[in-house]
Amino acid sequence: MCGIVGYTGKQECTDILINALSKLEYRGYDSAGIAVFENGCIEVEKSQGRLKNLVDKMDKGHKPVGVCGIGHTRWATHGEPSDVNSHPHGNKRVTIVHNGIIENYNEIKALLVKNGYVFESQTDTETVAKLLDFYYTGEPVDTIIKVIGEIRGSYALGILFADFPDTIFAVRKDSPLIIGKGKGENFIASDVPAILKYTKDYYLLESDEIAVIKPDEITFCDVHKNEIKKELQRADWDEDAAEKGGYAHFMLKEIHEQPTALKTTITPRVMDGMPFLEECGITVSMLEKVKNIFIVACGTAMHAGLVGKYIIERLARVSVTVDIASEFRYRNPIMGEDDLVILISQSGETADTKAVLQMAKERRTTTVSVVNVKGSSIARESDYVIYTHAGPEIAVASTKAYSVQLSVMYLFAFELAFAKGAINEDKVKELTKDLMNVPKVVEDTMNTMEDCQKIASKLVNSTSLLYIGRGLDYALSMEGSLKLKEISYIHSESYAAGELKHGTISLVTSDMPVIAIVTQKDLMEKTISNIKEVKARDGKVIVITQEDIEIDKEAYDYIIKVPAFNDLFMPIISSVVVQFISYYTAVLKGCDPDKPRNLAKSVTVE
Ligand code: GLU
Repeated sequence: MCGIVGYTGKQECTDILINALSKLEYRGYDSAGIAVFENGCIEVEKSQGRLKNLVDKMDKGHKPVGVCGIGHTRWATHGEPSDVNSHPHGNKRVTIVHNGIIENYNEIKALLVKNGYVFESQTDTETVAKLLDFYYTGEPVDTIIKVIGEIRGSYALGILFADFPDTIFAVRKDSPLIIGKGKGENFIASDVPAILKYTKDYYLLESDEIAVIKPDEITFCDVHKNEIKKELQRADWDEDAAEKGGYAHFMLKEIHEQPTALKTTITPRVMDGMPFLEECGITVSMLEKVKNIFIVACGTAMHAGLVGKYIIERLARVSVTVDIASEFRYRNPIMGEDDLVILISQSGETADTKAVLQMAKERRTTTVSVVNVKGSSIARESDYVIYTHAGPEIAVASTKAYSVQLSVMYLFAFELAFAKGAINEDKVKELTKDLMNVPKVVEDTMNTMEDCQKIASKLVNSTSLLYIGRGLDYALSMEGSLKLKEISYIHSESYAAGELKHGTISLVTSDMPVIAIVTQKDLMEKTISNIKEVKARDGKVIVITQEDIEIDKEAYDYIIKVPAFNDLFMPIISSVVVQFISYYTAVLKGCDPDKPRNLAKSVTVE
């Protein structure tokens, strides 16, 4: 899930490429590199590690000067992170940057080796660079068409041919790519934030389309060289939205953006006090017929799906299964034409989720996607899309994208419950009104920040901990646990509170903190008994609860109280607390919460 960029125009482009790459570092930071036309020759500079290493290297050594170039920030899939495996790859004639995976790279490599090519890196990408060189006849588009006919897998490619020093060639399949249109200058990028400083206008490149980008002209064609006319898109995010805005980290900024993101996602979907998903094409008559629901997603999005399951089953009485996309797609699930598959993905490019979408289509099962990135593959290819309006999420650990996904789950559950006649209009209106008040309650929950900082200071030396809860609290504890381990590197597990005594309680000692989420009044007695069992074994208990819930002081060591509100919405409200706890624990441990090791955002590989 690398990030690729490119510039062609009249300005010196090295700094532009670096700036654009800095906006894509969330897509990978194993290495960075650029290729720029300098005095008519392709000059490559690359370095393992963060973009800063490349900048330092060029400051001390050679910084290419030119007005046309491409750049890359890598999340390694084939070949370890190293200088030699860093992109760009190629030679003085053809040089490329690549996002994706070439599945048949071994076959291609064998063919090229037979024809005298020598390989330097272990990447799949180098085979494409060399194949382009092998077939190059002086006509780049023909060469690209020939090459994409032979490679299998996913790719977004930015390509420079030495014979065309003011032109970037681009092509993609299953990996995202946009073409930015400026005045006398044009761009390519994996994602919109990379180009916002320079232009808001861009084209979406579709799979198997080729773009030829010059300073004053962008042309598109298909694999038969038929010209394609495209509609110009305009980004509604300004550059500021993609910057840190005064916060120490993107993650902290994004936690604070949740009230706005929630409001922006919920408000347009409410009409006359009722949920209104018709703008997305989802109607009551369509929902009436739904038999079973499958929610499929990965990581945090899957946790949003779990909350969705609880509320849909509770309110609409429709059976819901929640699955991890990488499991679902291989287990030959039983789904039919009357069922519904809900796919949740922040980026809309998650490879396994995308594969499930294809599978659902083959089985003629209706698909609804919940996606944050406009025009992304999953959004475009599903039958219906409910966009979340979180704005760009840059921190690798998802926060605001999760809470807005939850808000969509609620809207959907209300609409479905109404369609199924499981609850009447008055009840739907009452719940929708509460949902509309959630952004304000989330805003008030920001006051827990200092308490969370204190809790973080108690966790920072732990090596392992447990998150427990029941019902909706259990669903949130799964997200709390993931958030903590992904950015603070403290091992953490989430457990259904009632299940603890069936094995895991043996891990509890005075060194094992247990975070218990206790916000569901109908289940709290039972969870409190479970935390007392932990206390009795010397465990350190941290409770997250509502202001109006009284818990016996003997039962816990520390407590954080969120504003009292309707229990049903507690996963959205309490998510702020688990996010703060993870964030401050990571910061106190000296970890970079925005760029956790080994992880990248938008997992476009399987
Ligand atoms: N497969 C390429 C590499 O490992 C690109 C990886 C990606 O896009 O994630 O270098």
